Amino acid sequence: MCKYSKESLTLIVALHELLGHGTGKLFTKNVETGELNFPQDFKNPFTGESITTYYLSTETWSQKFGKLHSGYEECRADTVALHLIHFNEPFEIFCKSCFNLFT
Ligand SMILES: [Zn+2]
Repeated sequence: MCKYSKESLTLIVALHELLGHGTGKLFTKNVETGELNFPQDFKNPFTGESITTYYLSTETWSQKFGKLHSGYEECRADTVALHLIHFNEPFEIFCKSCFNLFT
């Protein structure tokens, strides 16, 4: 297990930073125009239900979560990375030499 610790760390950090922090979208409603920044028929992929809550365009992530906003974002990024590490594609993209070891 320690043999591949450097490669594993590189991969999990890449997933955390690039896809964990680099993805996601805050659903917002423009307070001036009432326009949503997502399709009105968009469904929650987990429940299949319509989106009923969203931020206002004047609100920020840190306003809503206060002192927890940074920790919450780090947990979100880690969750994305830990989910994606179970697929072959990240190994193919970020660690080609490692990928050959697992196939
Ligand atoms: Zn982070």
